[in-house]
Amino acid sequence: MAEEPKETKPGFQNPVAGFGVTFKAMFKKRLTEQYPEQKKTTAPRFHGRHQLNRHPDGLEKCVGCELCAWACPADAIYVEGADNTDEERYSPGERYGRVYQINYARCILCGLCIEACPTRALTMTNEFELADSSRANLIYTKEQLLAGLEEGMVDTPHAIFPGTDEQDYYRGLVTEAAPGTVRQVAVSKGEQSAGPSGAAEDQEVDA
Ligand code: SF4
Ligand code: SF4
Repeated sequence: MAEEPKETKPGFQNPVAGFGVTFKAMFKKRLTEQYPEQKKTTAPRFHGRHQLNRHPDGLEKCVGCELCAWACPADAIYVEGADNTDEERYSPGERYGRVYQINYARCILCGLCIEACPTRALTMTNEFELADSSRANLIYTKEQLLAGLEEGMVDTPHAIFPGTDEQDYYRGLVTEAAPGTVRQVAVSKGEQSAGPSGAAEDQEVDA
């Protein structure tokens, strides 16, 4: 059985109803944002630009395992791992991330990569101003993603804290770089020669 047609308003009432919507909107609070002059604070857990974190002595948390790259649905991450050596060490364990790139032309900021990371090396910041007119500039390198140095940290490469192992780093037993770490970095970069014994001399940490 055919449905009864619904009762409609007389034609002249429709424009009046339309003006009613406009009239009500005139008294609502304006939502216009003055971006970029006035930047809005994001939610604390906003998914913004990524960051590669460090241990408290400055060694890198990334172990080059590529789990983040495999978890990424947009194929936006490229990782190449490499072995640490006693002369050139970037992380406490066996391996480190030698090459690390995130392509922000592909990334959808979903956060699956940071969930996959076993060492909490990869997290996301609140920074959202990632737009650029160049595709090449949208590929962020390890140097751009690596966290800055905080107090007590020394830039890589350098040795692990004497008397500790990789597990101690994850137990929170290493809280700052050991004395002499500055010299180790300088020697490995060829900026300073090793002492007669070939060992690094004690020197205050340059925070
Ligand atoms: S946030 Fe999502 S899309 Fe972006 S790199 Fe991580 S997993 Fe890939
Ligand atoms: S960021 Fe995490 S998941 Fe990605 S390679 Fe490094 S350690 Fe592995």
